[in-house]
Amino acid sequence: MSVIKTNNLQKHYQVGENSVHAVDGVDLNVREGEFVCISGRSGSGKSTLLSLLAGLESPTDGEVVLLGEHLEQMNERERGRFRREHIGFIFQAYNLLPQFNSWENVAIPLEIRGVPLEERKKKAMEALEMVDLADHAEHRPTELSGGQQQRISIARAIITRPGIVFADEPTGNLDSRTGTEVMELLTDLFRRWGATFLVVSHDEDMIRYTDREIRLKDGKIEKILIS
Ligand code: ADP
Ligand code: ADP
Repeated sequence: MSVIKTNNLQKHYQVGENSVHAVDGVDLNVREGEFVCISGRSGSGKSTLLSLLAGLESPTDGEVVLLGEHLEQMNERERGRFRREHIGFIFQAYNLLPQFNSWENVAIPLEIRGVPLEERKKKAMEALEMVDLADHAEHRPTELSGGQQQRISIARAIITRPGIVFADEPTGNLDSRTGTEVMELLTDLFRRWGATFLVVSHDEDMIRYTDREIRLKDGKIEKILIS
């Protein structure tokens, strides 16, 4: 089954007199359980494509179909609900809340859904177990290394078992050894559980772990490399 599909996806920005084609006719088809990397140089359209796929921005033209559902046929509210139900996000800068400890950060998606405290904590501890940080459950983000913070953010992204996980340069702030550890953890988690994982990265070490590299240039797919 196709989990992430786009048809002639376009995003144009008007800058003064010029129209910038940030995403210029992208056709994607990502199957269930696939681990795909969107690569390309700075300015090639990676962030814009990810925002369109996540429904955070609307395309100028074309379609985004996630799990068989058309994002453009949903209103803002429906898109928000769809994101919360089906998508996990991992960011370069972790985006953890500083006033919360690890398990509280991990439990945020459950809190948004109104899950009672006891169950939230239990599920958060299970997710922390999966990223091997159960012994840091009471630590605040400032008391954790970059790699540990990223593992906390991974636990937060997977706590609801979303069908799709989007990651934006998840190893971008980490040194290469820590980045490799985070990649091995991610690969292992996704292989075991079969979520579809799309990562934006220009990190060659990271790309090696993926099933397919989709390289963008000037908003178009330049080439597709299968590992
Ligand atoms: P990447 O993530 O690969 O660095 P981006 O998607 O950020 O690329 O940008 C692709 C192109 O679109 C660039 O030329 C960028 O300047 C342009 N762009 C991105 N966002 C905007 C915006 N909000 N307004 C105008 N131009 C934009
Ligand atoms: P940057 O590209 O500057 O590194 P981020 O990767 O932190 O930015 O965020 C990418 C986009 O995702 C931003 O537009 C941000 O507003 C949005 N975003 C952040 N957190 C969430 C979330 N939990 N759910 C949906 N969208 C989010």
